[in-house]
Amino acid sequence: MKIILLGAPGSGKGTLAKKITSEFDLPQISTGDLFRAIVKENTPLARKVKQIMESGALVPDEVTVEIVKERINKPDCQKGFILDGFPRTIAQAKALQNISSIDTVILVELSKETIINRLSARRTCPNCGEIYSIFDNKDEICSKCSTKLIQRDDDKPDTIRHRLEVYDENTAPLINFYSDKLFKVSNDGKPEETFEIVKTFLKNLEAKN
Ligand code: AMP
Repeated sequence: MKIILLGAPGSGKGTLAKKITSEFDLPQISTGDLFRAIVKENTPLARKVKQIMESGALVPDEVTVEIVKERINKPDCQKGFILDGFPRTIAQAKALQNISSIDTVILVELSKETIINRLSARRTCPNCGEIYSIFDNKDEICSKCSTKLIQRDDDKPDTIRHRLEVYDENTAPLINFYSDKLFKVSNDGKPEETFEIVKTFLKNLEAKN
């Protein structure tokens, strides 16, 4: 199965992707994670990407498409994958049509107010990438690898606001673009509840194919 997770930053795509990965044994392709890995290198591209990410803007389409193409061509993506955070523009979606055919697009819905609250409370493990909320993890230590959690630079209030504007302008038009493949799910409740709904939908889809 080839799945796109669509939704504003902070809507819960990453958490949902990790649950789908373990249930359906599909790799999660998060362009945000791929870029965070690139930023750790000492190259001109790393410096450029770092600056863009810190401002909350989007990395240019050509760079992003190239990185996704390379990742999708790896053997673990043969039987499918979950795209998390890609495509984010109509140009990226059109480029993706030439790379692979997508089975379904899951739109994760959450109000702006809840997104801002959740993103401000989000902490990430810099070692294994696990995502937490300070409401549930008050010690701010990763329960998987005991690393001290960090707040992503782009999870600070001003950058969050800018990322949401960028989403409205560039990414929200994809909802129309994918109208014939769209499955909408609200993420207002607990992540486990959202996942149960998505799991039922994907099992049905899998059975049909
Ligand atoms: P994320 O972790 O998905 O919120 O992504 C973090 C940042 O990485 C974004 O704010 C962008 O700067 C960059 N990024 C991630 N995915 C894309 C994409 N598909 N196109 C352009 N920039 C991206």
